[in-house]
Amino acid sequence: MYFMNLRGAFFNNYINYSSKVDYKVEDNYILMLFFKVMKPMIIKYTNYTDGIHEFEFNEDAKTLGLNEPLSGNVNLMVRMDKSHSQIVLNCKLTVNAKFDCDRCGEELTAELKSDFKLVYLFGNNPDNSSETVNLYYLTPEQDKIDLRPDINEYAILSIPMKKLCKEDCRGLCPTCGANLNKETCNCTKENINPVWAPLLKLKNNSK
Ligand SMILES: [Zn+2]
Ligand SMILES: [Zn+2]
Repeated sequence: MYFMNLRGAFFNNYINYSSKVDYKVEDNYILMLFFKVMKPMIIKYTNYTDGIHEFEFNEDAKTLGLNEPLSGNVNLMVRMDKSHSQIVLNCKLTVNAKFDCDRCGEELTAELKSDFKLVYLFGNNPDNSSETVNLYYLTPEQDKIDLRPDINEYAILSIPMKKLCKEDCRGLCPTCGANLNKETCNCTKENINPVWAPLLKLKNNSK
């Protein structure tokens, strides 16, 4: 019993220590520098004790195999919670994208952010048919988690369907093509839906 308490005390100390100094992050940083080109966005989890570890990865979109509109730096913050039975990764992904506004055609750069969780269980997949999203199995022969396939998937998913330079982009005048965010043109005869015309008349009369 005494031994178990000691273990518990040590474990707590370890967590406190790592949250203050976090030498494990530095360890990983050295690892990242070393593998900068060869093995980015890979966590060699066998190097880490049970508990919480935090990592930051930066990699160029091109190196990750990501194409337009994604470009520039891809940043991934990972909070790893490792236990004897599983590893849970809470990920925050930031990717940069360049695209043309759907309404006015202006080029814009946007920072796309997404949060997701990846779960890895130690052991073999019991039925080989697990279709659960973001659940993986780590076989005893394995010692690393390669985050790149998931990063690519989430980076692509984070591209918005509707790309607007700003939420209230006024677009281009359908008649003269003027960018209505920047100028007003003379052909701004609004087409009012005839259904609303009586209401509009009422509103104008009451002024
Ligand atoms: Zn626009
Ligand atoms: Zn116009």
